[in-house]
Amino acid sequence: RKVSGAQARKALEHDLNAFTNPPTHHTARYKELLAYRKKLPVYAQMDDFFTVFNENQIVILAGEAGSGKTTQIPQFVAYSDLAHSRGKMIACTQPRRVAAKSTAERVAEEMDVQLGYQVGYSIRFENRTKRGTTFLKYMTDGMLLREAMSDHSLRQYSTIILDEVHERTLATDILMGLLKAVAKRRADLKIIIMSATLNAVKFQEYFSLGSETRAPLFKVPGRTHPIEIIYSQEPELNYVEAAIRFVLTIHRAEDPGDILLFLTGEDEIEMACREIKLEVDHLIKQYPSSVGPIVCIPFYAALEPTQQQRVFDQTAPPAEGPDLPLGRKVVISTNIAETSLTIDGIVYVVDPGYFKQKIYNPRTRRESLLVHPISQASAQQRTGRTGRTRPGKCFRLYTEEYFMSLEEETCPEILRSNLSNMVLQLVKLGIWVKDLAQFDYLDTPAPEALMRGVESLNYLKAFDEDETLTPLGSMMAEFPLDPQLASLLITSPQFKCSEEIVTITSMLSVPRIWVRPADQKREADAAKELFTIPGSDHLTLLNVYNQYVENKSDEDWPQMNFVSGHALAEAEEVREQLQRLMGKFELELVSTTGTERKSRQSILRALVCGLFMQVARREGNSYRTIKEDQFAELHPSCQLNEGHEWVLFDEFIFTGRSYLRTVSEVSQEWLLELAPSYFDLRTFPDGLTKLALEAVTKPKAAAGEQSSHRMADRATPWS
Ligand code: ADP
Ligand code: MG
Repeated sequence: RKVSGAQARKALEHDLNAFTNPPTHHTARYKELLAYRKKLPVYAQMDDFFTVFNENQIVILAGEAGSGKTTQIPQFVAYSDLAHSRGKMIACTQPRRVAAKSTAERVAEEMDVQLGYQVGYSIRFENRTKRGTTFLKYMTDGMLLREAMSDHSLRQYSTIILDEVHERTLATDILMGLLKAVAKRRADLKIIIMSATLNAVKFQEYFSLGSETRAPLFKVPGRTHPIEIIYSQEPELNYVEAAIRFVLTIHRAEDPGDILLFLTGEDEIEMACREIKLEVDHLIKQYPSSVGPIVCIPFYAALEPTQQQRVFDQTAPPAEGPDLPLGRKVVISTNIAETSLTIDGIVYVVDPGYFKQKIYNPRTRRESLLVHPISQASAQQRTGRTGRTRPGKCFRLYTEEYFMSLEEETCPEILRSNLSNMVLQLVKLGIWVKDLAQFDYLDTPAPEALMRGVESLNYLKAFDEDETLTPLGSMMAEFPLDPQLASLLITSPQFKCSEEIVTITSMLSVPRIWVRPADQKREADAAKELFTIPGSDHLTLLNVYNQYVENKSDEDWPQMNFVSGHALAEAEEVREQLQRLMGKFELELVSTTGTERKSRQSILRALVCGLFMQVARREGNSYRTIKEDQFAELHPSCQLNEGHEWVLFDEFIFTGRSYLRTVSEVSQEWLLELAPSYFDLRTFPDGLTKLALEAVTKPKAAAGEQSSHRMADRATPWS
């Protein structure tokens, strides 16, 4: 039975809700939202969409950001494939957690159903769906990939919509390859590939039906009002300062309308918010009759959900009296606002031309988050965030020549990422290690990057000699964690400290715990000092968590102690989920016993056993990583004083300089004992590190005494 656009429209206008059982009457809010939805460009194409969808197994859909793809298309599909009446689901993937969650909330409201029942979402560590009831599921691409590992044919789903494919995230790329194969096995599965770039030929060809026929393309025309693009005449030396200056100029000189400014990350965004607010308050004092109030709304992934929702608040601040200038809303956002989320009412876009990109260097085996120039495609998307409902202006804080010199497209993640997680997932999906290079990639990764991925999984004992998955490797793939952290968790019961390790892992999986307000830095640092366990940031995190749990009844505790209650609550949830998974695999939850010294030692030894590839040795004033020989300093947030010889770190970051973040002191004896294949001195590169390790294996009485003496001088985590 095939449903037409006309039939769907009738159901939409009906008094009774087709998706509730027993049927309920549509609310007034439903009707209000329906009126809004009808104005979206995709809505005008409903009939054509139903025809294309009915006639094809795979459809490529391209439409500008804001045209209604993410919110409306899955609803159209719900009317057409009637998943709810067949016990199946419709999946719609998003590269970003925030987008999956906030779209699900919005769509539940639009459909007049309860979030978590008919419409739900599933993101890492957070699942709001109900078995047997949910038929429309927004989820991150990573979560769908995870589900594919246990059901290679994704039989729960009648239609799978991959959204934002132009972002070319690693998980979306792999899913495309996977779905292409599944489509051949499952004639009943429908697939929609959605992109915000109108040039979709690459996707059409990838999903071509025969050797000649491209997959059909469904194009949604955008509503285009003219947009004036204004380039800078000279290159800007400091883009954050320039951006702030531009926002202020627009506020003073341009007609009413909200501003969207793109910056690269939390620190920049918070700083810009503060400065703009200060400057505008100052201007209002000077020129009360010509400068209106301003509201700055920051937007980035680590922001608390209630704060994130503010971005959709329609209202700009009102003028404070008649004849006074109008207020204005300024949204300062990371790349999230480029295509995944649409903020209505934007008239001015300020684009400094940068974003933060994760780049992995297979030679140095380091992944770093770098501020990088955007691509021409990105610049165009940013420009398109205005001009949707009325003419707009886009200020590009770079010259036109510079724009012409930018890369045409953003480099796909698969070409610039650490692939160990992907390799593990592909092998878990049934692909042989030796066939990894032959997988049907949209863009094939560098052989060296694949090799590095396999190599680190070999060190983690995920594969055995004939390159098949070991039970350990298979289990690692099931944890929604980086393979190293997964292995840490799985091996922790052997060290009799899995309770502690699961806490530490959870704390490492959530955004920043420490709160350090600009005007209370000293107080915040003093509070942090009280939590500190000498020599180990990991143990410090454990300590914070335990104290948080002990003080659960005191609502003010997080704020008084300068830690984020939100991040801690999230850690608690993550912990519960990881604990459940551990239970599933019968991994014992044990807590350390014995003296504090002994228990700290067990925890640190367990950390070494999982994270041995993230070790560095002090050389002069900085640290040199093992094998790849990268130099870095301890991040200022580390609570370690200088002087520790060997450290284990959670992150290697680059922000102008290289830093190790979240660090613990470890002993070199443990490295040799717990990771003998990685620290195998027979194959170890020559150098100071090797010499230092050899000093342990060939004990010389004098040197040995000296070093144990030196150790005893300091407060170390195990002494
Ligand atoms: P596309 O996927 O084509 O970019 P969307 O379906 O995301 O378009 O957005 C369509 C409209 O719905 C936009 O105007 C947007 O502002 C609105 N919208 C989407 N999500 C929300 C939300 N969580 N709250 C309020 N409005 C939203
Ligand atoms: Mg979208």
